[in-house]
Amino acid sequence: MIQAAITGERQVSFHELPDPRAKADWAVVSVQASALCTEYKAWLAGENQAVIGHEGVGEVVEVAERGSVSVGDRVVVLPQFSCGRCHLCMSGDYIYCEDSHDFASVHGSTSGAGTFAHYTLKPAWLLPRLPDDVSYAQATMAIDGIGASFGGFEAIGVNSQDTVLVTGLGPVGLGAVVNARFRNARVIGVEPAPWRANRALEMGAEAVLDPKDPDILQRIRSLTEGRGVDCAVDCSGRVSAERLCIDATRRRGRVAFVGECRDELTVRVSPDMIKKGLTVVGSWLYNMGDYAKVMKVIRQSPLIDLLISHQLPMSQIQAGFNLLAQGEAAKIVVDPWA
Ligand SMILES: [Zn+2]
Ligand SMILES: [Zn+2]
Repeated sequence: MIQAAITGERQVSFHELPDPRAKADWAVVSVQASALCTEYKAWLAGENQAVIGHEGVGEVVEVAERGSVSVGDRVVVLPQFSCGRCHLCMSGDYIYCEDSHDFASVHGSTSGAGTFAHYTLKPAWLLPRLPDDVSYAQATMAIDGIGASFGGFEAIGVNSQDTVLVTGLGPVGLGAVVNARFRNARVIGVEPAPWRANRALEMGAEAVLDPKDPDILQRIRSLTEGRGVDCAVDCSGRVSAERLCIDATRRRGRVAFVGECRDELTVRVSPDMIKKGLTVVGSWLYNMGDYAKVMKVIRQSPLIDLLISHQLPMSQIQAGFNLLAQGEAAKIVVDPWA
């Protein structure tokens, strides 16, 4: 089979590897669609990665034992290789599992570890089935497109009474706009890239502000009767945006951090949190028990087709990375077989 890898600065290579085989409760999935995520950052930086892709969907083509999936099932390939036994996995919070399987030591190679490949391998319990009326491309949104912000929205309870600030309108932030509109919440976005700002407005965001505007906090307050937003969700992973989420949220409001950040945010516990009565949570994907709710957003939101901005053959994955690097795409879905 063919598996893609990042092999240098702005360089993707396609490698011929042995087809992975089912083993114990691990099933082989023929990947029919896989969405691009943050891989382009490693591609830009020239950080080599032999295994890429974690937002795949496809058809089960081989199982080693009878279990929860059968050959022919259309499934979402959930990320990670969580153990399935610890209290976090048992409660559906598998994403936080601390005992994940080491793929290479289970299978003796990394063939099938990623989803930018013809085939991928996954424990069957991490392969929930797709409803018949959801296309493979749409189903890839069940991972980070819709799923990443969905978990954050659940954690802080975003509802139709709320004005929600979404900082960073990349693929995950635009997914947050879809989730917010699905819940009939009012959306204020923050984003410097014009393509993304326009897409958010097209999706129904009421305003999109430029993070470099020195009066941004005042502008947010004037859009919220002077009080600040009810909730904020950071999808940018930038310290300045995380700070804005805390400052722009009203007293007793709620903040969710969804965008991963390598830098340090300074929080002054008394004025920022205690005196404001602020709830601040970090959220990584969503509880598996909410899979059906995430699918409901994908099936019923009229905005999903705006969230999937491009569909490409996997051979053109570099063009996709380039679009993401330029801030001119929402979610990009590739077909490994095209
Ligand atoms: Zn992702
Ligand atoms: Zn576990």
